[in-house]
Order: sequence, then structure tokens, then C-alpha cells
Amino acid sequence: MDIIFNCPNCDQELAVDQSGAGTQIDCPSCGQNITIPTSGKVTTGPLPPAATPPPSSIASSAAARAPLHLKVPVRDTPGEMLIDKPRPPLEVVQKGAGKKLRIHTIRRAACVESGHDRFDETVSAFLNEVTETNLVGIHVISYDFFDVATQKMMTDYGVLIVYRG
Ligand SMILES: [Zn+2]
Repeated sequence: MDIIFNCPNCDQELAVDQSGAGTQIDCPSCGQNITIPTSGKVTTGPLPPAATPPPSSIASSAAARAPLHLKVPVRDTPGEMLIDKPRPPLEVVQKGAGKKLRIHTIRRAACVESGHDRFDETVSAFLNEVTETNLVGIHVISYDFFDVATQKMMTDYGVLIVYRG
């Protein structure tokens, strides 16, 4: 912190460290013995006062940008190249937005018609109906059931399809 004052004798502008306030010096311009005032135009030193705001304005603009970055995942308009990678899954979510998460269970035994196993056909048809976009996952299931034909408990399998629809 410097005290800036004008020599009372020659009006030369002088800058003295604040620690020298109240002491007497010889004016470097006119040689007159003068007393440094205890107050004056106080500055922050060699840097002009305007030098202090930039770092804080950079910090505040950086802080202002941060929320924008946080908003990127939820924006529904195409953004910059930076978010190209996250976009595909977002599109899927957006296409499925408003749709409920559902499950559909297909048991193999239920697909047997007149002795013909139409399980693959049935599952394929359902998957094409759901479309890959809304497909969340497929899980294999196995279950016990009472087979009327053989009068025995049988173990069979099927799939549990999780999708949005
Ligand atoms: Zn002077």
C-alpha cells in the first residue's frame, strides 16, 4: 500500500509506502524537508487498482459457465461437439421419455402350438414391436410348471423383456 501525495512545496506527486506515513523526508524533486501525510490517495502498489478486478471477474465468469456445463446433460437441443458422445444414450432416454418402464414375460411353453415351438418367433416378433430403441434389457428366466400332457412338474425357460412403452 502506497500513499500518494503531492509535495506541498513543489507539487511533485510522490508515492511512499504507507509504513512511512507521518515521517519526514527530503522531497526528491525540490529537496525541501516535508512530512509524509498519514492519509492520501492510497493504492495497492505497483499495480493499478483496476488490476485487481480481472481475476475475480474471470472467477465469476468461470462460475457462471459451470452451471451451463451442468445443464448439458438435460438439454434437448443438439449441442457442441463436446457432448457428441453422450448424445446417443440421451436420445434413447428422450425417445422413451413419457413412456413407462414395462416388462413382458414370454414363457417357452406358452409358445408351443400344435407341437411346434414358436418361442424364437414369438420373442423376435415382440422385440421388433418394441424396437431396439425402447428395449432396456432381456433376462433369461426358468420356471417350474405342471405339464398336463405328462402329468409331471417340468422346468421350462423363457425371457423377461424390459422395455419402454
Ligand atoms: Zn518538492
